[in-house]
Amino acid sequence: MTESQKTATRIAQGLHYVDKQTGSVIPPIQPSTTFARDADYQLIADNHSYARDQNPTFLPAEAMLCELEGGSDALLFSSGMAAAMAVAQTLRPGDHIVAPKVMYWGLRNWLGTFCSQWGIELELFDANDPRGLDKAVQAGKTKLVWIESPCNPTWDVIDIAASARIAHAAGARLAVDSTVATPVLTRPLQLGADIVMHSATKYLNGHGDVVAGALITARKDEHWDAIRRVRADGGAILGSFEAWLLQRGMRTLFLRVREASRSALAVAQHFSGHPKLLGVLYPGLPAHAGHAVASEQMSGGYGGMLSLRVTGGAAAALEVARRCQVFIRATSLGGVESLIEHRYSIEGPDSPIPADLLRLSIGIEDTDDLIRDLEQALA
Ligand SMILES: *Cc1c(COP(=O)(O)O)cnc(C)c1O
Repeated sequence: MTESQKTATRIAQGLHYVDKQTGSVIPPIQPSTTFARDADYQLIADNHSYARDQNPTFLPAEAMLCELEGGSDALLFSSGMAAAMAVAQTLRPGDHIVAPKVMYWGLRNWLGTFCSQWGIELELFDANDPRGLDKAVQAGKTKLVWIESPCNPTWDVIDIAASARIAHAAGARLAVDSTVATPVLTRPLQLGADIVMHSATKYLNGHGDVVAGALITARKDEHWDAIRRVRADGGAILGSFEAWLLQRGMRTLFLRVREASRSALAVAQHFSGHPKLLGVLYPGLPAHAGHAVASEQMSGGYGGMLSLRVTGGAAAALEVARRCQVFIRATSLGGVESLIEHRYSIEGPDSPIPADLLRLSIGIEDTDDLIRDLEQALA
């Protein structure tokens, strides 16, 4: 391994993994929950005592996450939500936290409940207002700024470097949910973020067969120690087999994300201006409000997620979804199969999501098949 190698090379090889004992090029799965001590009662291997604290099967995946994000440490969690919760659980009563109005629905709901139960002030800002974050932070009081970019499911783009400057000037940390962008397209730590969170369920694993989460930190500091303790004490850990599947999935991350991004751009361009659509929401289109910032902070593509606004409201949108034969009607994103989802049906009347919106997660199928499927569904 050399410094000059690209991350894509290092990740495809699982960081050039070769097992010292057997020569295997794939790491083993270690199911043990406990780890022995020698006659002097010292642990045989550093850090390995009990599997709720640390599991050797996590290490290859965590090292790959560090490489992907250019971080100094990474932690796997049992889900993306568990990873996000571990960050929030380091806050104290009286702290102030700031997050965008449009963000991952499950997390926004949980944050609302958590903050009101524990006396933490939560302020939601409008990501489309260039001064939105500036107005929301309170110097000395805001402890955490949480952002997501591109934001589910309108794909609004938040300027990560500018958010880091605002958060840091107020004395707060910046955490970025980078699930949708992936480290292939955006590296938030390089843009000044303190913590990156992923729902590894999505692109990182990429095959729809593991629920997992991850945090990657810029620095190993007291805050990171506190997060590590939340995981060790609460036990929101992955199983050994799932951690192993995740390192396997990440080996093809660059290939999958580049292909999904290329295909999503082609789909977005094909359908922009379609007579049955009010609009196509995709940061790769010059008409998208976030295009300029996306072009600045994303490299190699604009991601595999886009949304269609269908003329005729909820009923027309549901009819398009009903007619799809290649796209599968299902929630989630970032897998190799393309999915179509009517978010409003899932979120209900309190949702800020337009009822005519269909969210598409573009997989790695043939692009023409995807375009033809949507064409016939819209006909
Ligand atoms: C899915 C998702 C989450 C939650 O992750 P889980 O692995 O389902 O717990 C958080 N943020 C974004 C952007 C997501 O897509």
